[in-house]
Amino acid sequence: MARNIGSRYTAHRVLGRGSAGTVWLGEGPDGPVAIKVLREDLAADADLVARFAHERHTLLGLEHPHIVGVRDLLLGDEAEGGDLALVMDLVRGPDLRSHLAACRRLPPREAVSIVAGVAGGLAVAHAAGIIHRDVKPENILLDTSGPEPVALLTDFGVAQLIEEPRRGTAGGVVGTPDYMAPEIIEGLPSRAPVDIYALATVLYELLAGFTPFGGGHSGAVLRRQVTEKAAELPGLPPALWELIQQCLAKSPASRLRASELASRLRELLPALDGLPALDLLDLEAADHRMVPEPAGAAAALPALPAEAEAEAGTPRGAVPLVRGAVPDEERVTHTRMRVPDAEELAGGAHGTARVARRPGQPRAGSARHSAALRRRRLAVTVAAAGALALVLLLVLLLALG
Ligand code: ADP
Repeated sequence: MARNIGSRYTAHRVLGRGSAGTVWLGEGPDGPVAIKVLREDLAADADLVARFAHERHTLLGLEHPHIVGVRDLLLGDEAEGGDLALVMDLVRGPDLRSHLAACRRLPPREAVSIVAGVAGGLAVAHAAGIIHRDVKPENILLDTSGPEPVALLTDFGVAQLIEEPRRGTAGGVVGTPDYMAPEIIEGLPSRAPVDIYALATVLYELLAGFTPFGGGHSGAVLRRQVTEKAAELPGLPPALWELIQQCLAKSPASRLRASELASRLRELLPALDGLPALDLLDLEAADHRMVPEPAGAAAALPALPAEAEAEAGTPRGAVPLVRGAVPDEERVTHTRMRVPDAEELAGGAHGTARVARRPGQPRAGSARHSAALRRRRLAVTVAAAGALALVLLLVLLLALG
């Protein structure tokens, strides 16, 4: 059923629901729009409404072919009924997360073209002093209404405006672990290079089907962001791999600027024509994906000797990095956690990054790793049972003799 939002807009049907609220297909004085109505608890937060009001010009001022334009901001009374709503350009097409889920991996040319467009949008935002802070496939929409899909970055600054008050405790981290630059985790202020790092992570993910440091609990992901090197993707043209590596540099100063990244990616496009999506081993991809352990699986297995347990690293779902945090069962998109101290980041809390993996060796906590672990546990159990049976037989023979 249609619903009025403010005096100028009508919402017709729900396009989707996100972490911050519901996005409606709507109609305004200038035609169709997308209206993001923020959750009631957010709209009722006076501080948050004040921050949105303060950022009104910034939010409305960003215009670029690869940025979803915010046309209007409805606050409190304006929105009637106490809503807080962002009226945006309507994008006809899926978000990049759904597109990637459908394709698994994109051909290099398509991936690079999408990311080059987004980098162009970031360049304009960065030049205006605006940092996105939450670049990820969920925030990239694909307009598929024309002959070629056009990528548009959405939610500029919104995550930051919403999450800020809840940082509360000193040293809190806001963001999405898989895409979070090391300097954020180390407690440094977020500047433009955090968006470049996140965008390079997106490019890696579009090509590989998994993020370079993802998998397992968010604490483990954050530690890898700080300590590990991204695994090279076999079959990728060296010039493209070099660009990705440069933008995944741990040091923010070593990363390219958005405008440079956009132009370097565009230069690569002709050489990528006709290249198929990377053919990576399924096993390797499975290593990086989130495969939750069945509940109780570990408890049903015999206990491992301490040495084997240490070798196995920390099981998925445990929290090696941030002591006292509650393990998550699901993929974490937004998380708020304290910044781990230097000792924890160095792996002092039994992290998977302490021991470098050999090529082909499964990442601790991965599905492949769990299967190997189960096989080892079974072998230990069988050996112990055999030894016990032998002892019993000897005792029986002695008793009979
Ligand atoms: P999240 O908070 O998870 O980033 P959003 O609230 O931004 O999600 O979006 C929820 C859904 O609405 C998504 O499926 C997205 O595709 C859709 N959507 C968001 N913005 C627009 C838009 N401007 N045009 C069309 N669809 C949109």
